[in-house]
Amino acid sequence: MARLIFLISVALSVSVADSKYAQGALAAHKARNPRGRARRPARLVENGQLRGVADVSLLQEVGKMSLSVDDASATDANQKEPKEELEDWKDGNLAAKSRFSEEQLDELTSHITADVYGEQLHDIADINLSRFINSKGNVQAANHMHSEFEKLGLTVWTADLDIGSELIGFVEPTAKRSSAIIARLDGSDLKDDAIMVAAHFDSVNWEDVSKEAPGVDDNASGLALVMLLAKALANREVPLRRSVLFVAFNAEEEGLIGSTQVAPLIVSGKYGNVKSVVIADEVAWPGSGSHDKQAIFETLGTVKGTTSLLDTFAHSVKEGDGVEGFKVNKHGFGSDHMPFLKAGIPTVLLIEGDNMHHADLYGHSARDTFDHVSFEFGASMSKLALRVVAKLASPEE
Ligand SMILES: [Zn+2]
Repeated sequence: MARLIFLISVALSVSVADSKYAQGALAAHKARNPRGRARRPARLVENGQLRGVADVSLLQEVGKMSLSVDDASATDANQKEPKEELEDWKDGNLAAKSRFSEEQLDELTSHITADVYGEQLHDIADINLSRFINSKGNVQAANHMHSEFEKLGLTVWTADLDIGSELIGFVEPTAKRSSAIIARLDGSDLKDDAIMVAAHFDSVNWEDVSKEAPGVDDNASGLALVMLLAKALANREVPLRRSVLFVAFNAEEEGLIGSTQVAPLIVSGKYGNVKSVVIADEVAWPGSGSHDKQAIFETLGTVKGTTSLLDTFAHSVKEGDGVEGFKVNKHGFGSDHMPFLKAGIPTVLLIEGDNMHHADLYGHSARDTFDHVSFEFGASMSKLALRVVAKLASPEE
């Protein structure tokens, strides 16, 4: 018992002088868990204050040794982490047909080079060494996205984050945070319809929430993609047919909280009738071995319209553009695609093929730095997403 309490103390990164935490004060983080295998935390909360976070695998050990933790924690700890269920893509012949010619798409995407992507990634990741929900960098990142979208002439909204029980312990209940920054580029003849492309802007260091959380791959990389698409599409001379929503979500890391809160508003049609959603989360780590320069298109196969969206993605992978292969996952989990899929909107998460490896080595830690991303691969993933969104926003019929 003493050894176990010692272990918990170390893992929690707080000094636990007595055993009462171990005997029932662990409040499980049982909501929608973001990706990142072993780093999924349970909260140690006392009087509404976060005392630390514990690795779920440790809680599994606790469970095994029948130490008394509260029921919610034990149940949560015993839940298995979802696994990627990858499969080869089979063409359903439902890819979106667009008014854009291949030449026009080539021209549109040609401006996204490795240098351009790198500059955009620095623009976001250099704002602050942390964009954790409780950091100044979190507010700075939201403000930055807001003003960058405005500079492009888009209509911009900020939705407030409701700091409810899921966030207690991570951020003061009175703090002002946004759940999402939403920017709209108006279309033309179909402008009431919208295509959405989004990424979360917060970061986290679950090894020590008081330390740096650079979040370069997770998820400045996805946010850079969103911003490059906004720039490419806002600067076009001829408008798109449909409107495009560019969205930055907050509090993904604590359980998809920003996207879950704002999804009903987006789905309600307040910003346009959303036809399809593309989420970018971790798109700049090219990986290694058989995963090298691979992508995953992740969705829920049971949601209507997802076959067409997967086909559109698959047909947008262009030889020579740097994404050298892909797999499909029809059993999505753990990112901001889930609230939209659950609302029945065809949604695909674009994520690097080797994301699980990245999560094991660098994710949710101070090691998620520029050392473990490739500007070239980030540019390749951005070009792919741009092709998809451009096609969807300018349908042939
Ligand atoms: Zn992420």
